[in-house]
Amino acid sequence: MMRRGPAGPRTLCNACGLMWANKVGFVAKQLKMLACLVEFVTVDIVDLCLMIYVIYSV
Ligand SMILES: [Zn+2]
Repeated sequence: MMRRGPAGPRTLCNACGLMWANKVGFVAKQLKMLACLVEFVTVDIVDLCLMIYVIYSV
């Protein structure tokens, strides 16, 4: 049985394909976490700017 690899579908054997899929899944998870973190930080900065704007405009 052949599995999907970095070079395309059916380029890796079963064992290597599973290892590759795990690796890709892990990286995707990390990127998703990073994206969530960036979103959180951005929202935080926007809130901070809004607070500063409100403080200085009053
Ligand atoms: Zn292999």
